[in-house]
Amino acid sequence: MTESEALYARAAVSIPGGVNSPVRAFRSVGGTPRFMVSARGAHVTDADGIEYVDLVSSWGPAILGHAHPEVVAAVQEAAARGLSFGASTPGETELAEAIRARITAAGVAPVEKVRLVSTGTEATMTAIRLARGFTGRDLLVKFAGHYHGHSDSLLAEAGSGLATLAMPASAGVTAATAAQTLVLPYNSLDAVREVFAAHPGQIAAVITEAAAANMGVVAPDPGFNAALAGIVHENGALLVMDEVLTGFRVGPAGWWGLEVSGRSFGAGGLDDARDLGGELPYQPDLFTFGKVIGGGMPLAALGGRAEVMDYLAPVGPVYQAGTLSGNPVAVAAGLATLRLADDEVYAKVDSAASVISKAVSDALSAEGVAHSVQRAGNLFSFAFGEFAGGPLIGGPRTYAEVQGQESFRYAPFFHHLLDAGVSLPPSVFEAWFVSAALDDAALERIVSALPGAARSAARVSRAD
Ligand code: PLP
Repeated sequence: MTESEALYARAAVSIPGGVNSPVRAFRSVGGTPRFMVSARGAHVTDADGIEYVDLVSSWGPAILGHAHPEVVAAVQEAAARGLSFGASTPGETELAEAIRARITAAGVAPVEKVRLVSTGTEATMTAIRLARGFTGRDLLVKFAGHYHGHSDSLLAEAGSGLATLAMPASAGVTAATAAQTLVLPYNSLDAVREVFAAHPGQIAAVITEAAAANMGVVAPDPGFNAALAGIVHENGALLVMDEVLTGFRVGPAGWWGLEVSGRSFGAGGLDDARDLGGELPYQPDLFTFGKVIGGGMPLAALGGRAEVMDYLAPVGPVYQAGTLSGNPVAVAAGLATLRLADDEVYAKVDSAASVISKAVSDALSAEGVAHSVQRAGNLFSFAFGEFAGGPLIGGPRTYAEVQGQESFRYAPFFHHLLDAGVSLPPSVFEAWFVSAALDDAALERIVSALPGAARSAARVSRAD
């Protein structure tokens, strides 16, 4: 028995399923989750002393690589001054200012005020409550396959762990709550127009992942977000742009920053975007952030127009609070991470994403495995099978298409790489996360393991 197997067996006695977040279980790929004991740079080391090149990056936060010395020093200094005061600290304002300064592009700065919370779930949950309080409306619209954390209103047809476990919804969410969330197919502006027409004056907000990355990566059609903003605003509702995953990862101003500066669009560029009827730069009313802004510590945020944000208590009537909100140690990690995540870091992450996604695609093609490379900036994943594609982007464009893929090919592919010392997300429905710490040796380790992994994916059949 390996040390990870022993630890997993022990954990399963005291922890449901042996994990504190279902995405860590190897339910869809089989086998035993590796128990990690340390991480540095591009690598994680498990309890058996095996070192892996890490393409999970703590599910997003570790954009600089693990345990960056300057982030660790900032955390140590903050911890030495006290772990939590339950009172305001100067760092919270500095972080709010840093976020505001970053979410600026094409001459607009849609984040005027910021509230810090501890998890992405809290950020989106609060954004929804705020949108309802501000508009005085009850209904919420989300897209199938998007994941916004695990608050009751947002679990319907959600991606991430629910996609992996094939759970369309969660038990324990009341029918009344579920009925107030309307779920639409992604990338369909017609569906958005129809839902507003069917529920006039009742929809408080549409929430969307800035670029979907919890059903594998499914980028919005060029111009989709801008046109969505237009429809939402025409109907007096708020647009909540969930950048918990994409924010500060795909670029300094997140996916929104890439889009409004024209850097996310393919060959057709901004003209395609305008053809859909949206205007650039579009302005979401609220943004949610997490992951990278905490640098690996529990920290998340929501931000947006001052008029909306000032509906939060103590100024306004919408209540939200947190014992550990804006925790000084987490804030120190976030400030250090944002300071270090400069243009050079984004260039490195973009380049690593290009190298790895091309190498994977080449290896799969060499073995005749039909697939689509799903990319949104430096986020990427692979969907197995043949897809019709959309008019502007190939590959699956909706949750239904993603679910229809040959997902049985992922488990043998995953395990071949794991055995070769490469740690991937244990689900075909998750994005791969690269870090700026991936050096040539780490990339070479991944690339050299790919032919075997692709062979394993080619050999398996649905019946296996
Ligand atoms: N929103 C998005 C887009 C996410 O990817 C996630 C987590 O993966 C969340 C919200 C929830 O964040 P957390 O896990 O910190 O609660």
